Amino acid sequence: MSSIFTKIVAGEIPSYKIAEDADFFAFLDINPNAKGHALVIPKKEVNKLFDLDEETYAGLMRFSRKVAIALEKAIPCKRVGVSVIGLEVPHVHIHLIPLNSMKDIDFKHKVNLKPKEFEELATVISSFLD
Ligand code: AMP
Repeated sequence: MSSIFTKIVAGEIPSYKIAEDADFFAFLDINPNAKGHALVIPKKEVNKLFDLDEETYAGLMRFSRKVAIALEKAIPCKRVGVSVIGLEVPHVHIHLIPLNSMKDIDFKHKVNLKPKEFEELATVISSFLD
C-alpha cells in the first residue's frame, strides 16, 4: 500500500505544498512543532533515509537546502533545525523546523494553526524560493 506521503505527491490527499520538482516534494507538517515546520521527501517511496541510493540522497539534501534557505527568509527564527525520525511515516522525510529555542525541536510542543494560516505560510515560504 502506498504511504500517506506518496498519496500526497499523487494529489490523492491534500497538502500545503511549498515546492516540487521531478523527484522531490516539500510541504508543511500538519502537526507542526513551530510555524513553518516543513517536510521534504523524495517522490520515490523508500522507508529509511540511509537506504536511499546516493543520487537521491544527495538530491534530497540539495532540495532541502533550498527550502531551508527560503524558510529562514520567510519565518523569523534563529536558524532552521533539521531532524530525521520516520517512526510515524515510513517514507523518507526531512523535518525542517524554524528554531527559536530547543523546545521547537523536541516534538512535544506543538502549535495549532488554522487552514488559512497554513495556506499563507506555504505561500510566503514559496515566494522566497529561487
Ligand atoms: P515521523 O515519521 O516520526 O518523522 O513523523 C511524521 C511527521 O509527518 C509528523 O510530524 C506528522 O505531523 C507529519 N504528518 C503526518 N501526516 C501528515 C500529512 N497528511 N500532512 C502533513 N504532515 C503529516
